[in-house]
Amino acid sequence: MQLAFLEFSAKDPEAWHVFFTTVLGMEAVGQGRYRMDGHAWRFQITPGERNDLSGIGWEVESVEGFAGDDADPSERGVRRRKRLVDPAGVPVEIVEGCAIAETPFASELVPGGFVADELGLGHAVITAPDPAASRAFYDDLGFRYSDRIACEIHGFPVDLAFFHCNPRHHSLAFGGPQRSRLHHFMVEARDVDAVGQAFDRTLRAGLEIMQTLGRHPNDRMLSFYAKTPGGFQFEFGWGGRLVDEASWQPTTYDRISEWGHLPPRLVWGSKP
Ligand code: FE
Repeated sequence: MQLAFLEFSAKDPEAWHVFFTTVLGMEAVGQGRYRMDGHAWRFQITPGERNDLSGIGWEVESVEGFAGDDADPSERGVRRRKRLVDPAGVPVEIVEGCAIAETPFASELVPGGFVADELGLGHAVITAPDPAASRAFYDDLGFRYSDRIACEIHGFPVDLAFFHCNPRHHSLAFGGPQRSRLHHFMVEARDVDAVGQAFDRTLRAGLEIMQTLGRHPNDRMLSFYAKTPGGFQFEFGWGGRLVDEASWQPTTYDRISEWGHLPPRLVWGSKP
């Protein structure tokens, strides 16, 4: 299974177009869709009254046996598609046979490309006001527990659980209520320089940096976070670890970052 696509309802689709093409280095393929690897598209922007996650797609070999209602596959350019809603109200789709692009992905801004394809587009951290209910729901879909981070950051308690559905350390994480359905999505570049270059473009675009460069202890991702045009965040990373299912031992970490990931608004000018 892999994270196949994210759809965002957007009040300002043009801002998203600029963001995807000039900040993240993705390619616009029409119909509000953007690609970043061999899949025909990975992100869908749909004009709407609110800025929010409006669809999260998980690609499987076969949707047979999965819960959910059959939905029109042509809307997503897939062979088969089922729709369901998770306990937090997040619209989930299980799809098979995603369209593959006819040409290799090429980006001037991210020349080495992204770590995606069979590992999925990256990861999503979503809201889960009832973590136990969300855990049961995603267990049923076949997600496997990777690990947990429980700590306090700048006075805020954090308790996040991470789940994998392929060798990527996590494709999904949740751990309580968020202000919107999606806290952030992550994309991973193949080259570390692409992270620094994306950081430069993020600053120049005037997007708010939410967390400076840092490294997470669990997935070992070196990354930064900033605000998307939708108000929720994106994480741009490099160096994420893979999980060997046979030998994986879940652990609990007591910090969210080995270093960095400082929120500029809270630490700017503070004494070291
Ligand atoms: Fe993340």
